[in-house]
Amino acid sequence: MITAACPRCGHAVEVSLARGDAVVCGACRYAGPLPSTARVALEQAHAALAAVREEERQLSRAQRLALGQAQGGVGCLGVLSGVLILTLFVGPALTLLFGLAMWWDDEPALAQVVILAAVPTLALGVLTLVLVRRFRRRARSKVQAACAATAPSTPGEPATCRVCGGPVVPSGTQSVVRCGYCRSDNIVSVEALALPVARRARDLSALAQQVQREARTLGTLPLWEFGGTLAILVAAPVLTVVWVFGYLVVILFVLDGPPSEQELYVKATRQGRTCIGTYRAKDPGVGRFSGVAPGFRFEEPLSGEEARPFTYRALVGQTLEANGVVGVAQRFWADGVGTNSVKLDDKTASVTSTCFALPGSPLGRRPSLSGAGAETSGWWTPEAIAAASTVPSASGTASAPAGGTAPPP
Ligand SMILES: [Zn+2]
Ligand SMILES: [Zn+2]
Repeated sequence: MITAACPRCGHAVEVSLARGDAVVCGACRYAGPLPSTARVALEQAHAALAAVREEERQLSRAQRLALGQAQGGVGCLGVLSGVLILTLFVGPALTLLFGLAMWWDDEPALAQVVILAAVPTLALGVLTLVLVRRFRRRARSKVQAACAATAPSTPGEPATCRVCGGPVVPSGTQSVVRCGYCRSDNIVSVEALALPVARRARDLSALAQQVQREARTLGTLPLWEFGGTLAILVAAPVLTVVWVFGYLVVILFVLDGPPSEQELYVKATRQGRTCIGTYRAKDPGVGRFSGVAPGFRFEEPLSGEEARPFTYRALVGQTLEANGVVGVAQRFWADGVGTNSVKLDDKTASVTSTCFALPGSPLGRRPSLSGAGAETSGWWTPEAIAAASTVPSASGTASAPAGGTAPPP
């Protein structure tokens, strides 16, 4: 509100650049022009206003977005951040439930890994949600404070323009009104008009500078909250992925330790192959086999001798086979989950994806038997062994030719 002293009684009268120097005094009913000093101040204020570009007095797209007023933009940003936050929230929450289900299913080691992967990402999701909400609210109140119209001095009167003091009358439900005189944007919502804005009470003494400063407020308003929100919305998924992958890499490859005595196995014979599966105390009638050999299902019913569990120690020195590699199981170790691995020849295999080598299978990598009918499943079959035994093997005599893995003609 711009005020001047009434020329007759000295009471403060409302002045606007739009009305010029004509004032009406509410106290003494004086209606007429202001003294010439006031007219000079008003003229200077006009010139100062003209020096500021019109766009600087109007809300930018980002500022309208902050207010929730931009057409299209709001929905777009809202949907985008909604989807992202939901993903950051729902993904880890489902993973956590999955981990708890695994715990229930008597897989505590795996459950622990899954839960530990999910908890920090869930916390990150919550943090993202809180920060984005906070930033949005901050940006909104910042723009609102910078752009609020001046509340009317007498109830029932229209609010006045924050820059020129002219009346700003809302049309319909729009809370942003463009001043009819100076074309500045003003927010006329009840919330904005209630903001305590001491700076709006101005007299004529420094009017030009004040009008210019007010006219430039929106143009110079920093909205780092938007950058911050965007940065969070980008960083949070990236951090989630980095955490989950980094965590899995550490668990599976870095945290190797001595072989686990807790991991128990069973062995079962199907279609002439004896393979190693997982024993679960919760369900001793069923072994879990990774299904790499024909005849084995993931959950295979066990009975009698087959249902008796053993540790990796029973496998030390046994000739095992995994994915076509046959070797004596000497070196065992466990990853961070407590899942044991074994070295066969030069190849690493999970213990539960190995089978006992068939009698007569040579040590070492099986030669490639291209075109041989026996070679289809990738497993040692009696036919494959017969075919391979005609090829010099690495464990044979020292005079065996290097690289002699080609099938005989
Ligand atoms: Zn008066
Ligand atoms: Zn105005």
